[in-house]
Amino acid sequence: MSHRLVSTSPNGLTRRLLAGAATALCLAAVAPTLAHASPAHPKIGFSIDDLRLERWGHDRDYFVAAATKLGATVNVQSADANESRQTAQVENLISRGMDVIVIVPFNGKVLANAISEAKQAGIKVISYDRLILDSDIDAYISFDNVRVGHMQAQGVVNAAPTGNYYLLGGAPTDNNAKLLREGQMEVLKPLVDSGKIKIVGSQWVKEWSATEALSITENALTSNSNKIDGIVASNDALAGGAIQALAAQGLAGKTAVSGQDADLAAAQRIEKGTQTMTVYKPLKLIASTAAQMAVDLAKGKTPAYTSKMNNGKKEVDTVLLTPIALTKSNISRLVTDGYFTQAQIDAK
Ligand code: BGC
Repeated sequence: MSHRLVSTSPNGLTRRLLAGAATALCLAAVAPTLAHASPAHPKIGFSIDDLRLERWGHDRDYFVAAATKLGATVNVQSADANESRQTAQVENLISRGMDVIVIVPFNGKVLANAISEAKQAGIKVISYDRLILDSDIDAYISFDNVRVGHMQAQGVVNAAPTGNYYLLGGAPTDNNAKLLREGQMEVLKPLVDSGKIKIVGSQWVKEWSATEALSITENALTSNSNKIDGIVASNDALAGGAIQALAAQGLAGKTAVSGQDADLAAAQRIEKGTQTMTVYKPLKLIASTAAQMAVDLAKGKTPAYTSKMNNGKKEVDTVLLTPIALTKSNISRLVTDGYFTQAQIDAK
């Protein structure tokens, strides 16, 4: 931080002295936290938006396993999609003296204060999967969400190259929802411009709720006399809701639908032919890379970053991992990766 304060102007020396003084003050302010320095057994807090959604349980299990192997202990909290509960949980993790706090934010816009409290206490903060905006986080790790969105739209276009499209976007509180849409539009915009497809409607779905996706899709089908050829759903929960609405109209398997997460129910729908594709993001990879990152930061080492991402306050050191598009033709990848057994995928 101090190097940003250092000026190259003729007044540089004074500025440098001021910068030094500022650094000393900062150090004094965090003096009680020197106990955090290079712990052999770091304490990590993991604050997860919502453990009720299938993927986050996998993230938790892989993360705890990897961090434990690295000698850390992990305290996991779930906010159950509640903004103030998550803030209180992060504050609790601060008061319990974590070395690092890893956060999957429910609302990427409201955690800045809690994070500055953590930073004042000398705690490193990692934003996990979703970017926390306008705040002084130390690092961000995710899959390339623009690329995920690109894969989703391309998957639907491959199955339904022309016709009416509906866009089921993610939660408006989740920065990923916007990145996904950006990637989707890279594919869709030229096709809209050339008249091949028509976007007949789109909606952001609060809390990524499957129930809401169901009623939104029911209404979309009604107002378009069931003429919807493709639904670009931003994850598997939304795809599940949409496909339930399609099934009620005898359209499941006829209208192309995308997803994301390789949830078990989605893998089963892909096998059955009612969902067109999903995007598989190997969760063991993100969770174990994040655990290594947390332990490195606790020990004062610099993790291996791949890029930077602007969160409105700073250019955040980032690791972006590569997602994998899955259709019926390569769904077996989940079995070879040991994510599910074939029997699980065949179960319904
Ligand atoms: C994640 C998705 C997940 C969604 C709902 C997004 O931020 O990237 O994997 O399906 O949140 O929890």
